[in-house]
Amino acid sequence: MNVSEPIRSTTDPIEMLLKTILNAVTDYKSFRFGKIFFEKKGEPDQRIVVEITPRKNGKAVCSVCGRKCPTYDTAREPRRFEFVSLWAIPVYFSYRMRRVTCPEHGVIVEDIPWGDGKCTQTIEQRHFLANWARRLSWSEVAECFGTTFNKVYRAVKWIVDWGLKHRDLDGVESLGGIAEKILRQVRCRLGRRE
Ligand SMILES: [Zn+2]
Repeated sequence: MNVSEPIRSTTDPIEMLLKTILNAVTDYKSFRFGKIFFEKKGEPDQRIVVEITPRKNGKAVCSVCGRKCPTYDTAREPRRFEFVSLWAIPVYFSYRMRRVTCPEHGVIVEDIPWGDGKCTQTIEQRHFLANWARRLSWSEVAECFGTTFNKVYRAVKWIVDWGLKHRDLDGVESLGGIAEKILRQVRCRLGRRE
């Protein structure tokens, strides 16, 4: 049975609460959260799916140079990105990626603030898992937060790779320090778009 069940209606207080929480923990200025629904509700692999759409005046951004560009086209099928789980229920963002026409880079996939378009894990989830992986074993992290060992591994690897690439930066020694720096980088990226 594959049940896709809206959490209720668009004005449902539970859906509104989830949107309020998501808006409080993210900062996707050019995008908005749309419909939120359960998939396979009550089954062992149930999940919450959150649709994301661009804001009406939110212009797409080139993923190489960060320039705002006209939209070339929009994917028919949405892509899924795993966000931080809620009460051990996996949460997925669902978004139809756009391609832009950049004067410098041609037709190219847009930049999205929650990921890089290639990885199915959001930046937030990678930070979350990598931080918990400092305290628990990777398999415990996977079990506690409704994800897989491989995703915990990839999250840690992503942070460590980033740290190695930037080890010439002052004071980058610990995983914590690296995570702090990535967070700052992400915030800067978001700020530059405005
Ligand atoms: Zn560009």
